Amino acid sequence: MTRRLTSALVLASCLLAPAIPAADLATSLLPPPVTPLGELQQYVRVAAPKVALLHVRVIDGTGAAAKDDQTVIIENGKIAAIQPASQAIANGTTVLDLRGHSVMPGIVGMHDHMYYIARPNLDEHGHFETPLVVPQMTFSSPRLYLAAGVTTIRTAGSVEPSADLNAKATIDSGKMIGPHMDVTGPYLEGASSPFIQMHRLKGAEDARQMVEFWADRGVTSFKAYMNITRDELKAAIDAAHARGLKITGHLCAVTYDEAADLGIDNLEHGFYVNTANDPGKQPDVCPNSVGTPTLRGMDPDGPAAAALIKKLVERNVAITSTLPVFEQGVPGHAPLQPRFLDTLTIEARDAYMLARNRTVALKSDVAPILLKNDMKLERNFVAAGGLLIAGPDPTGNGGVMPGFGDQRGIELLVEAGFSPVEAIKIATYNGALYLGVADRIGSVAVGKNADLVVVKGDPSRTIADIENVEIVFKDGVGFDSARLLASVKGRYGQY
Ligand SMILES: [Zn+2]
Repeated sequence: MTRRLTSALVLASCLLAPAIPAADLATSLLPPPVTPLGELQQYVRVAAPKVALLHVRVIDGTGAAAKDDQTVIIENGKIAAIQPASQAIANGTTVLDLRGHSVMPGIVGMHDHMYYIARPNLDEHGHFETPLVVPQMTFSSPRLYLAAGVTTIRTAGSVEPSADLNAKATIDSGKMIGPHMDVTGPYLEGASSPFIQMHRLKGAEDARQMVEFWADRGVTSFKAYMNITRDELKAAIDAAHARGLKITGHLCAVTYDEAADLGIDNLEHGFYVNTANDPGKQPDVCPNSVGTPTLRGMDPDGPAAAALIKKLVERNVAITSTLPVFEQGVPGHAPLQPRFLDTLTIEARDAYMLARNRTVALKSDVAPILLKNDMKLERNFVAAGGLLIAGPDPTGNGGVMPGFGDQRGIELLVEAGFSPVEAIKIATYNGALYLGVADRIGSVAVGKNADLVVVKGDPSRTIADIENVEIVFKDGVGFDSARLLASVKGRYGQY
C-alpha cells in the first residue's frame, strides 16, 4: 500500500516536471547556424560555404600539443577536415592564408554574466550608497564576449532573466550578435541579500516554484546564491534535476561539503567561498567573513584539503575557476590595458580607477595568500580528477570585463601552474563537457561545429597571445573582432 502510494506520487511528480532529454538541451544551447541579418553583416569578415584556414597552428582544446602548419577546412558551419598545409584544397574554397596565426576552440565561458556592477555615488573614500545595483549590459556584453573569442556562455545567475532569454532567442535568430547562451535563471537567494534585484526565497517550496517557473520559460541552468539555506538548496536541486537541468552555487550559508552532500553539480569561485572553517559559522547562516578564513587557513596540500577535494570528485561536483575577479584584490596584480579602459564609459572608468587605486593604497597582505592558496587548490583538484571549468565573473571592482576577462582567466590558470594547452582546455573543452555538448563544441575536431578563434601568435607558448584575437568563427561564420570591439567603445557600464 505504502509502496504503491509512493510510486504513484513519484509518477505524478514526474508528470508535473518532465525531464528535458539531453538532446533537446543540446539543441537549445546550440541551435542551427544562422547568418547575421541586415546591418549586422558589417561585423562579418568571412561568410562562405567552404573556408580553408591555411598555414595555422592548431591548439585543439583537448590538452594535446599544438600542431604546426595545418589547414582547417570549414564546410557548412562544421569542421570538415584538419590536414597538413601541404595537402591540396578543393576548388571553390575561400582560402585565408594565416601564417603566424593559431586556431583554437571557441571559449566556453562558464561564469559569464550579462550585467555590470555599479556603486551609486561612489566617493573618494570608497564609500557608496545602497542599494547596490547591477545594470544589464544586453548590448555590449554579447559583443564583447564574441569579440574576445567566447562562443558559448553560461550566464551564471541572471538579474533580468527575461532580457537574457530574449537576448538568446534574438541571437539565435540572427538579429543580434553574440555567443551561444546557456541562460541561468534568476539567483536563488535566501532571505537576506545586499542585491535588491534578487528575489528573496521564503522557504523550500518557494525555491521549488521558482525553478519550475523559470524552467518552463526556457532557462537551462540555475544558480544558488550566498544566503540560500540547505532546505531551499535541496528543493532547488531536486526540482532542477527532475527537469534534466544542472545547478551551480556561489554559496556562503551552505558549505562546500554540505552542498556536495545535497547533490549540487557545480561550485563557483574556486575554493574562495567555502565557509566551513570560518569562526563562529552557524548552520544556514552566511558569516560576514564569507569564506576568507577558511581559504586562508587551508593548506592546499594538507589533509583537510585532500578530504574536501576527494568528496567533490566522488560526487561529480565541478569547480568554476574565477581568478580574474579575485586578482583585483591583489594590489597591482591585474594589468591595466588601453583596450579595456577604452571600452568602459567615462564614469565606469573613473569608478574602476578609484577602486583600483584604493586597493593599491590598502596594501592587503591577505589577498595574495588567498590567490596563492586557491590556485594550488584548483591544481590539486584537477590532479585528483576533478572537472575544473572557467569564467571571469565580470563584476567585482569593475575591473573584470566580458571577453577580456575570459582571456585573463586563461592567463591566470597558467600563472597557477597549468600548461598553456591545459589552461585552454579548462576554458574550452571542460565547459563543453559540463554542459553535455562536448560532442559538438569545445575542441577542434572533424565533425564539430566550427566555433573557432583565430589569434595572431602562439598561445601554446606565450599565453598572452590569446589576447590577439582577429577572427571568431561561430557555426562557421567568421566575425571581425576589431569591428565588434569598436562598436562597443565607451559603452560598457551604460548599456
Ligand atoms: Zn558572479
